[in-house]
Amino acid sequence: MAYPKLLGALCATTLLVAPAFAQDWPQRQITMVVPFAAGGPTDTVARMVAERMSADLGHQIIVENIGGAGGTLGAGNVAKADPDGYTVLLHHIGMATSATLYRNLAYDTLNAFDYVGLVTEVPMVVVARKDFEPNDFTAFISYVKDNADNLTLANAGIGSASHLCGMMLMSALEAPLVTVPYKGTGPAMTDLLGGQTDIMCDQTTNTTQQIKGGTIKAYAVTTPERLELFPDLPTAMESGLDGFDVSIWHGIYTPKGTPAEVNERLSKSLQSALADEGVVKAMADLGTAPSPAEDATPAALQAKLEAEIARWQPVIEAAGVYAD
Ligand code: ASP
Repeated sequence: MAYPKLLGALCATTLLVAPAFAQDWPQRQITMVVPFAAGGPTDTVARMVAERMSADLGHQIIVENIGGAGGTLGAGNVAKADPDGYTVLLHHIGMATSATLYRNLAYDTLNAFDYVGLVTEVPMVVVARKDFEPNDFTAFISYVKDNADNLTLANAGIGSASHLCGMMLMSALEAPLVTVPYKGTGPAMTDLLGGQTDIMCDQTTNTTQQIKGGTIKAYAVTTPERLELFPDLPTAMESGLDGFDVSIWHGIYTPKGTPAEVNERLSKSLQSALADEGVVKAMADLGTAPSPAEDATPAALQAKLEAEIARWQPVIEAAGVYAD
């Protein structure tokens, strides 16, 4: 066959095959990569939505935890995966901060992924081991300033939410604590409970049950408003830490090149999961709420990621702190 004819035939086949592929998707189980360890807050959010999305899609979504390097290891794995709709990534704000923090990132954040939608935005709480001396945030501030050299601050690696919040805390208090990286704040929480580390700043999706159970101490929330869940906890801002405003948004991505119909179908499935009463209640119990349907869309997540890269880039560059 002559080349033009062959090309024509190939194009015709592609045109016929692409929509059929998207219509028939999914045919088998889907892997949702969480770039942090099991048992942590990102994992908790992922498992909540994966269960409901599995029921909606008629095929199981399996959560795979690939922790390490502040979430960039797991994200890098998804960037390299086949764009066939069977690998997705649930990541948080770290997707945006890592783009600047890592100058040699193995993937190009804005060009390596397609978008499904936003999932939820989660407040953080500054917490410490149960027997940490200070009894309120004012006392915490002076104690941490006075003892910075001897205190450890757990995080999930450079680029993680706990790292970002911890950096904000250290800079606000001018207290260079000793930071200890974990593959996720699930294992970091285990060490906080065991008293092997002193302080952490983490999402309510990981801290709520421990705070309520009295197994850790809570000092302040990172949102501009107090939380309904913990009305007695002050905000960092009302305690004099100006501009201490950070919430951890989560989104679902696919590798670049995933058929648009598949991303749209995933988005619809995400929207139905987020509207599920059980999910709404489970999130409320952990101090958060599902993103509204109009945000659980590819366009909304893309806009959020672009805006957040632009928001954090100058902050990180001014601090001059990089992962490499
Ligand atoms: N909360 C973690 C963070 O600091 C991530 C996790 O373990 O889910 O980014």
